[in-house]
Amino acid sequence: MGGSFFCYKLEKRHWNHNIFILNEEEEKMKIIMLGAPGAGKGTQAKKIAGKYGIPHISTGDIFRANIKGGTELGMRAKSYMDQGQLVPDDVTIGMLLDRISEADCQNGYVLDGFPRTIPQAESLTEALAKRGEKMDFAVDVDVPDEAIVTRMGGRRACLKCGATYHVAFNPPKTEGVCDNCQDNLVLREDDKPETVQKRLSVYHDQTQPLIEYYKGQGILVTVDGTKELNQVFQDIVAVLEA
Ligand SMILES: [Zn+2]
Repeated sequence: MGGSFFCYKLEKRHWNHNIFILNEEEEKMKIIMLGAPGAGKGTQAKKIAGKYGIPHISTGDIFRANIKGGTELGMRAKSYMDQGQLVPDDVTIGMLLDRISEADCQNGYVLDGFPRTIPQAESLTEALAKRGEKMDFAVDVDVPDEAIVTRMGGRRACLKCGATYHVAFNPPKTEGVCDNCQDNLVLREDDKPETVQKRLSVYHDQTQPLIEYYKGQGILVTVDGTKELNQVFQDIVAVLEA
């Protein structure tokens, strides 16, 4: 695992210089995923992580690991969550910095779900700079709102076994019935058009400004997320390896 990007880089350097000089920073592929809820960035993040053998890091996973492990930051996060409050950015960034210091992140990582706001992005840039690092790519999976509402509205879920389907892209064998347990499928509250619209408006207010922020840093990559998911992935890979 971990090999293909590393080999690709080595090969490229070999061709260029006919000599191998290890430059640790250059081997890294540190990626931030951007995109509206429902744009498919989580799926693409997992595919990128798989191809390059780098970890897919979601804030949810970091929170769970720290709380389960009983770390100091995890306990602080939990105390806010137990009171129904948002976890402060410095706590989240502290957990994130711990996570990216682990051995499996030495060739890079894919961040999914963080940063979500400009202050978070600024704090992350600052924290990485203190380590002599910076992000390499911010990949924006671009899908118009209407397409997202249509996509989400087609989702169906089995509340009994947790299986998910899509009426157009991944239909069950029998309409409205779960393949696994034959329970009736439902449109979840989260996938209803009015709920999706609310999440999209939060995204436009808080997270979309990150596109300009990372454009300003010269690391923005925009891909057309309305294409078929393997095509979207190929488009991302083409830019990462350009
Ligand atoms: Zn089921």
